[in-house]
Amino acid sequence: MQFNHGNMVGPTLAAELASLGAREWDTDMAVGVLRAHGVRRPDLDDARSTRLQEWALWLRAPFSAPDVDSTCDAINELLDSAASRPSLSTHDGHKPHLHFAADGDDVVERVRAITAGGLAIFAVESEGGRLGACLRSGCPEVFVDTSRNGKRRYCSARCGNHDAVQRHRAPGRRPG
Ligand SMILES: [Zn+2]
Ligand SMILES: [Zn+2]
Repeated sequence: MQFNHGNMVGPTLAAELASLGAREWDTDMAVGVLRAHGVRRPDLDDARSTRLQEWALWLRAPFSAPDVDSTCDAINELLDSAASRPSLSTHDGHKPHLHFAADGDDVVERVRAITAGGLAIFAVESEGGRLGACLRSGCPEVFVDTSRNGKRRYCSARCGNHDAVQRHRAPGRRPG
């Protein structure tokens, strides 16, 4: 599958918000994530920040779901609670792609629609795969797997190396 603006904004925005929500929620960092994904008028007052944090916790479900059916169920729940108004856009020279919310909607409503709708389209194209949670215990990061073989298990080389070292030190093996 191809990874481009049309199918990646929703899932990568969802992954970053879900990861942030599992760390310590920080309004300025959340605004930074929205801005980095091209969300217009991303500023959050306290009430909006709280609503977005709640949504960020919900967004974790499809990334940590154990199988395709649970991934679909989790995304369906997100779709249920996001008021989406899809329209086609060709802005900035992109190929036609779906935008899930109207520009005039409230920022939290737009983010809900973008992430739910984007995850749904992505799940169609990835056949329910390529949404993951880092396997290193205690790591809060979730990710969209854009690797060639789609078998990524860690958020970063750092977490992968950490677990490799732990396995190497496991009982029954000589240190070294
Ligand atoms: Zn777009
Ligand atoms: Zn990790």
